[in-house]
This record gives sequence, structure tokens and C-alpha cells, in this order.
Amino acid sequence: MALRLFNTMSSQIEEFHPLRDREVRMYACGPTVYDYGHIGNFRTFVAVDLLRRFFRQSGYTVRHVMNITDVDDKIIRNAARDGVSVQQYTAKYEKAFLEDAAMIGIEEPTLVRATEHIPEMAAFVATLVERGIAYRTDDGSYYFRIAKFPQYGKLSKKDFSGMLDGARVDVDEYDKVSARDFALWKAPKPGEASWDTSIGTGRPGWHLECSVMSMGALGESFDLHAGGEDLIFPHHENEIAQSESFTGKPFANFWFHARFLLVEGEKMSKSLGNFFTLRDLVLKGHKPSSIRYLLTSVPYRNQLNFTFDGLKQAAVSVERLRSFRLRLSSGTFADGSNSEMKALAAQAVERMTAALDDDLNTAQAQAAIFEMVRQANAAFDMGGIKKDDVAPLLAALAKFDEIFAVLDDDDGPKMKRVLEWAQAEGRDKEVSDALREALQSGQRSDADIEKKIGDMKDARSARDFKTSDAIRAELADAGILVEITKDGIRWRRK
Ligand code: AMP
Ligand code: ZN
Repeated sequence: MALRLFNTMSSQIEEFHPLRDREVRMYACGPTVYDYGHIGNFRTFVAVDLLRRFFRQSGYTVRHVMNITDVDDKIIRNAARDGVSVQQYTAKYEKAFLEDAAMIGIEEPTLVRATEHIPEMAAFVATLVERGIAYRTDDGSYYFRIAKFPQYGKLSKKDFSGMLDGARVDVDEYDKVSARDFALWKAPKPGEASWDTSIGTGRPGWHLECSVMSMGALGESFDLHAGGEDLIFPHHENEIAQSESFTGKPFANFWFHARFLLVEGEKMSKSLGNFFTLRDLVLKGHKPSSIRYLLTSVPYRNQLNFTFDGLKQAAVSVERLRSFRLRLSSGTFADGSNSEMKALAAQAVERMTAALDDDLNTAQAQAAIFEMVRQANAAFDMGGIKKDDVAPLLAALAKFDEIFAVLDDDDGPKMKRVLEWAQAEGRDKEVSDALREALQSGQRSDADIEKKIGDMKDARSARDFKTSDAIRAELADAGILVEITKDGIRWRRK
């Protein structure tokens, strides 16, 4: 079965087929780097990451481009406030964004930065002016003439027929009901960053950046354009108007929008005190893997209500999957195979793929793997797993993890980096006891511990119990409990 995805353009679920054989070209609107990313931003970025991973698992090669908006109204305002250049200001937050994205398991897309493509943007505006689609105002700004693009509103399904010709707006994010000619290019204001270009001095508008950079990197027509639901209007509507007027061709084939994340049922906002960056959560002691798991547990088109109970539950789920994998990889099994176990693994893979094919139903994909784990654990306790069953069960877990990416235990080093960052920024007060405790027991990676367990096994087969006991004590000191059973050696974090 082929992947079926909801397309905001048609308001329907459609079968996905790339424009070019076996290659998916996708563009996601990236962050505006004026602050640390919050968990709402990461809901959207993780959803896009999942989609990319699933495309790959489905056999496509993927070109995934993301922009970094490194010049906009907020950035200019904040840089001026702090008395630093736009570049100095954004460099810090771009770095933080990339660290956070890696921390939460997002594979890095090809990045494009607005400030590195200014001449192309100016040339693009010049072409639109030549064709009478854009015009210059007395101050040296340029606007897109919406009346020249009759399909304006086709993505957001808004009717702009009563719109005032020539009414203008020069902020990037504007009133959602009124359409106005929007700024492509802004004339410089005193004290603001600007560039000298073929169309004069100034800076690009946000919408223009994405049109020029997406087509520059992926071609005039590509497969999929993604972002959070707030970008449908005006941002994506404006990108379509600019791009399609410029090329005369369809811009993106699929429009993929993630619904917003709420916190404890409310819109996240600083004034409500329910606003969390990724780093805030880690400082409270939560693992990046739990956060990623929670963000993927609700299909992208449903609202995700983030709660701390949910986050704890996500941590338990991840732990259950990890322990199961460890049970399989470190246990000893009788020779042979149990056809039921092979069928169970095959069924889990089939269900997972069917769920993801169904508009990326991540909740059902997770349910499928848990059903496998539940039944396999029961079989394990009854000696129902044989040597040859281990590989297919592990393969099913690996297939799950190609998409969800939570099984490898690298939380400790990641959390440690956040702790060090907080210390370097003078934010020690925000470091919770929970984080310090988590670091104590999490300092050792799974691989590290498994190596020690391997050493213990070797020592025990050589009847060197002294060494085995010493390793066990060392692990106990690091917060790791080791159990020696007739099936082998098992361990878990205290
Ligand atoms: P920004 O850095 O504000 O340009 O946003 C980056 C991405 O995060 C965009 O795709 C937004 O649509 C998305 N986004 C912002 N807030 C939320 C939220 N609460 N839930 C989900 N996505 C969001
Ligand atoms: Zn964009």
C-alpha cells in the first residue's frame, strides 16, 4: 500500500507519489532564530523528521531542505536592543537550534540561510516588477500585487474577492482575515540591517525568503512543503502567490501542516507561565527521548496536549521498549524457533507500516510495537522464545526505531550538555535535583553497560567470580542494578 497523506491544498487524503521517480524533494519552514526553540516548534519539526524518515523507509531518497530565517522584524529589534549585529545575534540561536534538534533526534536537513541568498531575492523581485506583478513604493519598498494572482486564497480557502486593490501591509504576520498587497522587500529604516542590491537597499520579507530558497534548492516544482498550521496563512499563501506568478508552474505538490501543541489544555504563552523550551524540560530532569516520544505519540494532524503526566508516561514507554530489547540481546535462548514469534514480529512490522501509510498514524504504529512487546514478553517468561526468534523480533524493533529513534540510550550525555550550558549561561538555579539525579544514574550509556556485562559473563565462564563481583559492584555504584538469573544477566537503572 502506498503512503496516503492529507494535503492542505485539496483538503483531502491523497496517495503520495513523488514528481520524480523514487526521489522526494521536501522543504520545511525552519525556525526564526531569535530565541531558543520551544516544544511547540519541536512538535512540528519532529513531525517533519518522522515524515522524512518514513519516506526513506518506504524506499525513496529524500532531499530535505530547511531554511533558517536569520533576518526578520523580531531579530532586528532584539539585536538592536542587545547592541549586537544581526549576525552575532542569530549565530547564537542558530547554534542552539541545531544542538536542540540533534538532542531530540532530528536528522539534520540541508540548511539554507536567508542572509546568504539576498542577491537572488532581489533578482526575483526585479522580475516580478518587470511583469507588473510587483511594484515599488516611494520609500523603496516592494509589494506583491495580489490582484494579479486570482487564485490567491486557494490554500487557506479564504475568499478575497472583496479585497481592496492597492491596500498594503508591511509586517510579515498580519491579520488573518484581510488580504493586502504584502511586502516582498522592505526599505531600510535607520539603525536596521540592510543590503545593497540590484533593486536598491533594503532587506527581504520573510515570505520571499522561502519562495526563493526552496525553489533554488529543489527546483520550481517540488513534492512537499511543510510547517505548522499557523503558516497556512499568510506565509504559505504568499509563497504560492510569489512562486507561481514567477514560474507559471505549480509550486509544491503536497502541503503538510502539523497542528499546534497545547500545554495542559492551553495555548502556550509566556504570560500564562506554561511556555517551555526544550532546554527548560531537560533542566527539570526530563530525558530528550521521553520528550521525542511524547511529541510523536499523537498523529501530526491532531492537537497535541502536552502534560507532565504524559511526559512521565512517555518515559515509561521508552524504558519498556529498551528493557525488552535488552532482554532479547542479553538473554540466553534454547535452540530452534517458535513460528508464533516469527509471525508476531512480521505482524508488528506490517501493522506499523500500514499505520504510517495511513497519513502517518504514529499512535497506531506505537500501539503495534507495544502489542508485540507485550506478547513477546509473555512468551519470554514461559520460555517461548527460541534462539532463531531473536533476530526477527530485534529487526521489528529496529524498524520501529528507524522512525521513532528513541531506543538508543544517549540521554545522559545530552542532558549533561544542557547542564553545562546552563552553568555557562549563569542559569544554575534552573538546574533541578531531578536532572542531577538523572545524570548520576544515566552517566553510563547502554553500550558501556553492556560491555561491562559482557566482561562479567566472560569472567563468570572462566569461574572468576571475584572479577564478576567487582564489576557488579562498580555498576551498582553507578546506579545500575545487575540481576543474575538462570537465563543470563539482566540489568536496569535504579
Ligand atoms: P517560528 O520559529 O516561530 O517561525 O516557528 C517555527 C515552526 O514552529 C513553524 O513551522 C511554526 O508553525 C511551528 N510552531 C510554532 N508554534 C507551534 C506550536 N505551539 N505547535 C506546533 N508548531 C508550532
Ligand atoms: Zn517558510
